[in-house]
Amino acid sequence: MSFCILIRKQNKVSDLRLCQGTQCHTYYTQDRLKGQKGSKTYQTRRRSSMYYGGGNFCSTRCQDDWFREYGDKAIDHFGRLTEPKHLTEDNAWHKQYDWNSNDERIYVYRNAITKEQRSLTREQYNDNNYTLNT
Ligand SMILES: [Zn+2]
Repeated sequence: MSFCILIRKQNKVSDLRLCQGTQCHTYYTQDRLKGQKGSKTYQTRRRSSMYYGGGNFCSTRCQDDWFREYGDKAIDHFGRLTEPKHLTEDNAWHKQYDWNSNDERIYVYRNAITKEQRSLTREQYNDNNYTLNT
């Protein structure tokens, strides 16, 4: 009986994700303080889901800690930008909506560079595959 409970508890813990923050365990909050009396430790947070940094961090503070320590290395590893990227006329279309005098939505495609505007149907507006960008 107690063996089964132990297994279930272990499975549950392994389903949890650990915050990747390098200093997470050093922030003194009650939820980080774990263990039996006499051997308690502050521990990295474990959660079933986390909301920051693509689900890797429990807080923006932990995300910032990680970036401060590893950000430069990560950027160098994946390729540091050495020249500015360009958004050209061909790729500057964005969908917008406005309201007409009858309080109805009007859907438009607007080019951020040329300021050209083209009308859109509601279906085109909602269709994530529909684009004028090339
Ligand atoms: Zn954290």
